Amino acid sequence: MDFGLGAESEAFRAEVAAFLDEHLTPRVRERVRRSGSMHDWPLHRALAERGWLAAGWPKEYGGQGRSPLELMAMREELKKRHAPTEGMGMTMLVARTILATGTERMRAEVIPRAINGEILICLGYTEPQGGSDVASARTRADRDGDGWVVNGQKVFTTLAEEAHYVFLLTRTNTEVAKHRGLTVFLVPMDTPGIEVHPIRTLGGERTNTVHYTDVRVPDSARVGAVDGGWDVLMTALTHERSGIGDDSRLLHELVRAARDTGAAHSASIDDPVVRDRLARLAIDVEVAKLLGRRSCWIEATGGTPTVESSMHKLFHAESRVRFSAVMLDLLGPQGLREVGDPRAVAGGAFVEEFRHAVIMPIWGGSSEVQRRIIAERGLGLPRSP
Ligand SMILES: Cc1cc2nc3c(=O)[nH]c(=O)nc-3n(C[C@H](O)[C@H](O)[C@H](O)COP(=O)(O)OP(=O)(O)OC[C@H]3O[C@@H](n4cnc5c(N)ncnc54)[C@H](O)[C@@H]3O)c2cc1C
Repeated sequence: MDFGLGAESEAFRAEVAAFLDEHLTPRVRERVRRSGSMHDWPLHRALAERGWLAAGWPKEYGGQGRSPLELMAMREELKKRHAPTEGMGMTMLVARTILATGTERMRAEVIPRAINGEILICLGYTEPQGGSDVASARTRADRDGDGWVVNGQKVFTTLAEEAHYVFLLTRTNTEVAKHRGLTVFLVPMDTPGIEVHPIRTLGGERTNTVHYTDVRVPDSARVGAVDGGWDVLMTALTHERSGIGDDSRLLHELVRAARDTGAAHSASIDDPVVRDRLARLAIDVEVAKLLGRRSCWIEATGGTPTVESSMHKLFHAESRVRFSAVMLDLLGPQGLREVGDPRAVAGGAFVEEFRHAVIMPIWGGSSEVQRRIIAERGLGLPRSP
């Protein structure tokens, strides 16, 4: 069994690395840090110019038809560098869902523009009272002649401030089981009645609450069947979970900091406890990477990595939290110096990472929800009430 990605994929990885050396500049990082949006338009468009937003898509749909292994190499490189590609991730997962469930007209309108880097699509599932229980959505879409009128509120709609469309989950039927009365729409964000309000997180990222007041939506914006939104959502949620986690760059930065004998912080490579903890982190980093490779492989070869994606999401999110806590533990008070402080260790990247890591076990499905999926779907255990 070969756990490597092969010469062709490694050559592509080198191409992606060279691209990031050129385009992922300190200016881009500073822009992202200030805005809190894990998206940068010039970088996004440069990725699109290379054809990499749809690198793994079949050529007949506008992709490059790259192999699953090449795709993995690209995703690993983007993750390792912490490239701000959330806009790319969300847009392409919706594009893939539209490819599977949208009308011909919607595909023609949305997919080429998504691949060309012209548009972003945000995800409007979560509501203030529902949280993880997305099936309890109360944002209503009511029939009005040929179209629909939407009223309600969503929370944590990340990148709503930049997006051209929202992939919106609505309630269209209250007479049936809650997950059977949902419908998804692809709504242009400039439709009258949509209001976006920022939420700043502990990690500095921006997300939003979005209010919908008498928003008129044509029926042509519907994705999938009326009351068939749950099936559409399941396709999209699976794509959201199947990512790649590669924290090896952070690990290397920490090892480098520990090797720096002249540093003021307390993580010294001469301390056996420090070496022991670094070794444990290295194992976590490797396991997260391999679990990610597995789910990515299943998806890229036409499968649906439900349980595998949950295992990867869960392990990666929780190991990242452990990692960031150990980092600050080892570095001591000097590790708390923030970005902008000339004496900050690794330019303040570690303390920034510590604040960022806490959201990892929440977004894209919380850790408890992932454990339920593994227990119920993976092991066939009884459903929790
Ligand atoms: C920074 C950020 C960005 C996000 N971006 C988006 C986005 O772009 N679009 C979007 O739609 N959503 C987004 N989310 C929402 C996210 O994916 C989660 O679904 C949502 O945050 C969970 O709701 P909640 O925070 O209200 O927690 P709750 O669901 O209220 O959970 C509270 C606690 O109960 C646990 N819990 C909940 N349900 C169960 C269960 N069935 N079994 C066991 N334990 C359970 C949870 O694990 C958690 O510990 C984002 C969230 C964050 C924090």
